Amino acid sequence: MTTPAPLNAARPEPERAELLTWVKDQLRAEYGERPLDPRRDPMHELISTILSQRTNWRDEDAAYQELRALGNWDDIIAAPTDAVAHAIRRSNYPESKAPRIQQALIAIRDSPSGYNLDFLRDLPVKDALKWLTDLPGVGIKTASLVLLFNYARPVFPVDTHVHRTTTRMGAIPKMGEQAAHRALLKLLPPDPPFLYELHVNLLRHGQRVCTWHRPKCGACVLRERCDAYAQYGEHVPSWKG
Ligand code: SF4
Repeated sequence: MTTPAPLNAARPEPERAELLTWVKDQLRAEYGERPLDPRRDPMHELISTILSQRTNWRDEDAAYQELRALGNWDDIIAAPTDAVAHAIRRSNYPESKAPRIQQALIAIRDSPSGYNLDFLRDLPVKDALKWLTDLPGVGIKTASLVLLFNYARPVFPVDTHVHRTTTRMGAIPKMGEQAAHRALLKLLPPDPPFLYELHVNLLRHGQRVCTWHRPKCGACVLRERCDAYAQYGEHVPSWKG
């Protein structure tokens, strides 16, 4: 009787790193090359990403547009917090996000560069992450998105889709999203275009194929090397992240 091959999650780091390169290549063949071009300015990226927490992109965008209708960043700071919460009501948890956004804007306004975040391009990555995550309402995912998307810094944002797909594949053991940022980054090359393409294609794959409930494994280009598929076949359980 032959011994079954170990699951990816039990393999040493170099093998899991190679797995992620294979994932990137498979997803490029499926969804195409994704050049690293900033999609919006850094302040827009930062505030929109705070709004995006537990919110779909249409509602996030509607909330951002209504927020900006209140005026410039100084106007938003000066507005009553209730008015800010009302403006961002299409985002989930507007009452808790509104004061955090105002506090983050105050901290940014009072920093040496004001609303210009371009100094993040030159700070050591560790310091840039710390500066951003010290802002109210800004976690590691938001900070990583701004640094990678706007400043091509070598960090890897892990959202719910990236987290779910890489965990099911066995690239990382099951762990929280925050810890997954560190664990995945350790396995990946410090190459911003690589990190960007892997992030956006995993996000797309998680939205379309490796969904939280009833993932479409039969149509998945990653299934031949996926731990969850090896264990459950086409009956991969719903994600409980
Ligand atoms: Fe997700 Fe299934 Fe694809 Fe594995 S085979 S990555 S569980 S969709």
